[in-house]
Amino acid sequence: MKIGFIGLGNMGGHMARNLAVAGHEVTGFDVAGIRIEGVAQASSSAEAAMGADVLVTMLPNGQILRAVAAEVIPALPENACFIDCSTVDVESARAVAADWPLSVDAPVSGGIGGADAGTLTFMAGGSAKAFKIAEPLFEIMGQKAVHCGESGAGQAAKICNNMILGATMIVTCEAFALADKLGLDRQKMFDVVSTSSGYSWSLNAYCPAPGIGPQSPADNDYNPGFASELMLKDLRLSQQAAEAVGAATPLGQHATQEYARFVEGEDGRGKDFSAMLPRLSKMARN
Ligand code: NAD
Repeated sequence: MKIGFIGLGNMGGHMARNLAVAGHEVTGFDVAGIRIEGVAQASSSAEAAMGADVLVTMLPNGQILRAVAAEVIPALPENACFIDCSTVDVESARAVAADWPLSVDAPVSGGIGGADAGTLTFMAGGSAKAFKIAEPLFEIMGQKAVHCGESGAGQAAKICNNMILGATMIVTCEAFALADKLGLDRQKMFDVVSTSSGYSWSLNAYCPAPGIGPQSPADNDYNPGFASELMLKDLRLSQQAAEAVGAATPLGQHATQEYARFVEGEDGRGKDFSAMLPRLSKMARN
């Protein structure tokens, strides 16, 4: 299959490489001039789209996605499928689908490690026809793909998931900081909570306390991982969507404010989102 791939950054570079390794003819483009071994280089987004059976994008945000879509759509062959894997607002995903009906919004979970290993989870929105074309490529780049519904449903699933993740990470960090002040050993707290009703992915799989639970960014000085500013981006998308449909999300709103303070008012930028723990440990109750 001829695949155009736009956005060869931390995630997209690995994903494009995996498609090429699987035998597809991949032509990539990134404004930063990034080159990926095994991937032919185009000189523009439109050139990467020309003659493609499938076009994949992995871009920073919805505004950039819309700009790239406007550039590539006139160049796409009639039956080409447009798969956007970026995390963007639901409206941008639907706007692309309105301009190019054979499209899938397919944000991912699994991070840079998952992109490298080809073990991402894809949550997809779009027609059954478009999903069917995209599915074999999801199988190469990931281990699971869920067709969530019509256009925008993939982005909706992604921001709901990450709103839960942001809020549970904060409260897990709060629990460790509280345990410290109560004189409860962190390891004991982990042993109890990880097998009790307070367990969560944040605690069990990504423990924010160094030296406890499985290896996580906490064991690497809170280097990301999943950077706090990316969590803030996703939380803001959740609040933008909640605002648009009038949904009450008080904890999601609060989690957004906490990450905004951490990233924009303190030293959270560039740190893993689990660095909420050292932040909270230093804070006094007000
Ligand atoms: P990144 O910044 O490393 O990569 C984005 C790439 O897009 C950059 O290389 C940039 O040069 C390129 N780009 C920007 N504008 C462009 C344009 N107009 N034309 C062509 N290329 C352009 O970001 P990333 O970490 O790879 O994330 C990509 C997307 O995946 C984001 O939407 C992010 O929220 C999402 N995501 C990231 C992770 C993660 O752990 N990094 C996990 C899940 C989802």
